[in-house]
Amino acid sequence: MNKNNFFKQTETPKSKNIDKSQNSQLKYYYGRQCISGDDIQAVTEVLKSDLITQGPKAKEFENELSKFFGAKFAATVANGTAGLHLIGLALGWKQDDIIITSPITFLASANCAIYAGAKVDFVDIDEKTYTIDPNKLEDKIKSYSSKNKKIKAVVAVDYAGHPCDWKSLNELKNKYDFQLINDFCHALGAEYENDIKYAVKYADAVNLSFHPVKHITTGEGGAVLTNNELIDRKIKTLRTHGMTKDESILEKNDGPWYYEMHEVGFNYRITDFQCALGISQLKKLNKFLEQRRTIANFYNNYFKDDERFITPFVASNVKHAYHLYPLQIKFDELKIDKKEFYFRLKENGVVFQVHYIPVHLQPFYKKNFGFKEGDFPISEKFYQRELSIPIYPSLNEEDLTFISNAIVTTLNEMK
Ligand SMILES: *Cc1c(COP(=O)(O)O)cnc(C)c1O
Repeated sequence: MNKNNFFKQTETPKSKNIDKSQNSQLKYYYGRQCISGDDIQAVTEVLKSDLITQGPKAKEFENELSKFFGAKFAATVANGTAGLHLIGLALGWKQDDIIITSPITFLASANCAIYAGAKVDFVDIDEKTYTIDPNKLEDKIKSYSSKNKKIKAVVAVDYAGHPCDWKSLNELKNKYDFQLINDFCHALGAEYENDIKYAVKYADAVNLSFHPVKHITTGEGGAVLTNNELIDRKIKTLRTHGMTKDESILEKNDGPWYYEMHEVGFNYRITDFQCALGISQLKKLNKFLEQRRTIANFYNNYFKDDERFITPFVASNVKHAYHLYPLQIKFDELKIDKKEFYFRLKENGVVFQVHYIPVHLQPFYKKNFGFKEGDFPISEKFYQRELSIPIYPSLNEEDLTFISNAIVTTLNEMK
């Protein structure tokens, strides 16, 4: 195949060339990667080199991530879930520790506590920002105190790309002494108090994912950012079986081949060709962010004056990164069935996803921790109303008009 054609074909999803009036098959999903010729070239170069894993690219990607996000240390890992797993271990979570997150997140934000043998509890989201509510967190901490218990850590999620109320979370951390983790998978490039490097300033450890729906991708992949050298060192040892060659730790040294294992780890490494993709993608993050914000602006303008919708709020000290565009429809008040709306909208060419099914309502968490419907009412109501509509850089104005019209037309049809 001609090289140029190959690059062209992989450049963008082919929505532009399709006549939408005739194509009921056409589906827009909520997210997808944006890969172009330079990305493919970067990966190909590594594939032709001697080391396709454990070569120089992981370190190079770590350096670039450190620079971009203002972190002293960065550790690449196999995926975001592996990153959360290692964060819990590096922070010393153990049996009976209490780890808090919010119900509106991906399973992994809670599961990482389970991996460490710890207990999960939840705190409801703020109605406006959809992130963990610091007032309710303090109530939760006080209610544990009254039983002579302390929480170990909070995994706070910058949901959809809107930073949490980090100042309040930090005040609580100083007042009650717990660890603070930023599950930052949605928020690459978000700004808090005009600062794109805010994440490591407030959290002990920051978790990133490079899954194809996220801002930048390596296929599967992730990274942990921190300003704490001990946490970084621990994560880098645990991601590769717990092996160490660190002279200050070795009990003896038989020679250059020699290593020791002091605690059990995993193989949670990422390949060099994936890191090459990550380096290439990171260079385009600012452009991707601009495109995502343009798309969000379009939707905001389209839906904001229609009473049936609630568009995402943005706090005045925040710049949203829009991993997701969480649109709420007042299905309850409109007496419209969300499931039926899903199928009808799909017929009209648009597929939405829902972020998220409240984690406390998963059978595992209900069964093992006794959570039930009604425990976190704001999250539950949000789940009833939320749909994540398509947002990724290659959508153009024609696409956005089609998507928005499809949503309104479908709603109108169901009245
Ligand atoms: C994507 C995501 C993860 C998990 O990342 P993977 O790379 O898919 O393992 C964890 N938390 C949140 C909030 C995410 O969005």
